[in-house]
Amino acid sequence: MERLYRTEALVLRHRPLGEADRLVTLLTWERGKLCAVARGARKTKSKLAAGVDLFTHGYFILYRGKTFPTITGQEVKERFLHFRQDPDLYPYGLYLAELADLLLEEEQPAPECCRLLAAAWRLLGEGVDRALLSRAFELKLMSAIGYRPHLEGCLSCGDPEATLFSPRQGGLLCPSCSGGEGMGLEKGTLSLARHLLNTPLEQIKAVRSTRLQKAELDQAFTAFLSCQLDINRLKSRPILKFMEEKREG
Ligand SMILES: [Zn+2]
Repeated sequence: MERLYRTEALVLRHRPLGEADRLVTLLTWERGKLCAVARGARKTKSKLAAGVDLFTHGYFILYRGKTFPTITGQEVKERFLHFRQDPDLYPYGLYLAELADLLLEEEQPAPECCRLLAAAWRLLGEGVDRALLSRAFELKLMSAIGYRPHLEGCLSCGDPEATLFSPRQGGLLCPSCSGGEGMGLEKGTLSLARHLLNTPLEQIKAVRSTRLQKAELDQAFTAFLSCQLDINRLKSRPILKFMEEKREG
C-alpha cells in the first residue's frame, strides 16, 4: 500500500493528543474507519484546525506512519453548518456519528455507510422529522453491517401476520414461535419500519407517522441496538431523550 494517499472522509470525532495535536477519527470511503493525527490542529494559526472539526466532509491526504497516519492536507467538501447554528440539531448529528463510530470496524471499507451518514447529516439540516430520520439511519446502518432486521413474517415459521419483534433475534416472531419473547408492534408501526428499511433515506420527507408508531419504533430499535453495542457508550443518547420529551411536551 502506498504511504501517501488521498481519501474522501467524514470526521466522526476528535480528541486532544499531546500538546497541540488532535487524534481524528475519520470515516473514509476507501478504507473505512481510521484514526489519524492532525499535527498542530489545536494551535490558533493551524490551517488544519477547521478541516478536522466534527461534521466535516472533505478530502484528506494521509501519510501512513508507524502508528497512526498523519493528515498532511485537507480540502473541505461540505461542512453541515446547521449543527453549529441550531443547538437542538447538534445532538442528532452527534448521535449518528457516535453510532457509526461504535458500530463500524476499523479499516473495513464501508462506502455505503459513508454515503448514508453524509446524507443523514445533510437531511437533518432540511427540516425532516429528526426522530424518524434517526430510526431510518439505525435500520440502514445495521443492515449495511450485516444485521438487517427481518421484518417480513415470522423468523421461524414465516407467518406473514407475525407482529412480535425480538430484539435478540433481530426479527419478527408469531405467538406460536415466540415462546414468550418479543415486543408487540402495531401493524402501522411495522409497515413504517419496513418502509424506512426499504426506501432511500432521501425519501424520508414524504413519510408520515404517529406518536405511538415513533414511540414503538424507538423502544424496539433501542433494544435491538443494545444487543449489538453498549448503548451507554453513546453520550448523545440521554440528550436526545431529553429533547424528544421537550418537543412532545
Ligand atoms: Zn412462527
